[in-house]
Amino acid sequence: MDMISYISKHFRIDPQLVEFVFECEKEVAPIFKLFQETAQVNQFRVIEAFQKNSVSARHFYASTGYGYGDEGREKLCRVFADAFGAEDAIVSPMLMSGTHAISTALFGLLRPGDTLYSLTGKPYDTLLSTLYGASGSLEEYGIRFNCAPLESNGMIDIDTSVAEIKKDPSVKVVYLQRSTGYEIRPAFTTEDLGRVISVIRSEFPDKTIMVDNCYGEFVCTEEPTAVGADIIAGSLIKNPGGGIAPTGGYIAGKSSLIEKIAGRFSAPGIGTEIGSYAFGYQQYYQGFFMAPHTVCQALQGVALAARVFEQLGYQAKPSYDAVRGDITQSIIFGSEEPMTGFIRGIQRSSAIDGHVVPYAWDMPGYDDKVIMAAGTFVQGASVELTADGPIREPYAAYLQGALTYEHAKLGILYALDSMGVTL
Ligand SMILES: *Cc1c(COP(=O)(O)O)cnc(C)c1O
Repeated sequence: MDMISYISKHFRIDPQLVEFVFECEKEVAPIFKLFQETAQVNQFRVIEAFQKNSVSARHFYASTGYGYGDEGREKLCRVFADAFGAEDAIVSPMLMSGTHAISTALFGLLRPGDTLYSLTGKPYDTLLSTLYGASGSLEEYGIRFNCAPLESNGMIDIDTSVAEIKKDPSVKVVYLQRSTGYEIRPAFTTEDLGRVISVIRSEFPDKTIMVDNCYGEFVCTEEPTAVGADIIAGSLIKNPGGGIAPTGGYIAGKSSLIEKIAGRFSAPGIGTEIGSYAFGYQQYYQGFFMAPHTVCQALQGVALAARVFEQLGYQAKPSYDAVRGDITQSIIFGSEEPMTGFIRGIQRSSAIDGHVVPYAWDMPGYDDKVIMAAGTFVQGASVELTADGPIREPYAAYLQGALTYEHAKLGILYALDSMGVTL
């Protein structure tokens, strides 16, 4: 039996749908090739970083207590720094999430009276509480936030930003968010960021430039630190954990700045001299080793999804053949029913909790109901195949991740089936 009839019979999916997805796959193949080329460059660079630091099995060993002389912890930071083209890094299971990593970096860099200036509008939802309103926010320490909204096409308004920063000498950190969050705009590639960074650098040589690099790692052949960013930060249950790291975050960049951040991360004067991990670091090393390939799998998955849903008449952002800056994909369904069907299909394809049916619910911190497919090995890991979206106009679902391309493909097939698509 050929593959299409086998899949259609075994998984009870309309053979026409299966054939349609296989056809789309053929059309996307040249794009896959580009992702694979990027993965190759990144994989080589990651291995080079391991070798340069002579990583051995003993670096995986567990440590306890203060973790004095924990070589596994120290090496891991070196490997990340070298692979990211940075001078130094903090990589730790004690950074509990991407938000925690970014927040730690901001508190380390900013002092009372300083201003944080974002070139990419308001930051990601979970970071707003770091800025103001919540107990312990930057605002409570007399640190202000200001931003230039993105232009209507999603581009950075560099002229306005430069003019505003010139007027405000209190601006200490210039901030960029690479990925889109729950907005519909293109993510920035390292090249895009590099162009903006060089303008900011030449106008303001003394300002610190920081990038929220979440979802962007290994999507391009270089990270923002390699094109002039002073500090980048992200989550290890996204791209750089490769789907294997069980928790954690990273901050990478200039040594002098990492030192300031380290004082906030642990305690002033202690920095990264201590820190133990009783489970050992193997998953972190192995996850980082896998990450370029995992990211490639995820990119192939979302590009196929973009093609499939574009062909069905839905709007996919970015389009299947666009140059990508992150691993997220939005698909605009226009109404609740197909969106719900889509999310349920993705959930049904999961190895974990595939039997669970997602319903929209009132999530704390959101104005509208949110529905999500999150059948993951690591709780909340969005480098794994996941999808979510708020139940509101334009009924956009955000799809991201997939540890394997094959899983993403099954997710798309089940999504079409759950939506009741007929050709
Ligand atoms: C995921 C993400 C974060 C951090 O989120 P956590 O859920 O705290 O890991 C920050 N910024 C962007 C753009 C993100 O996508």
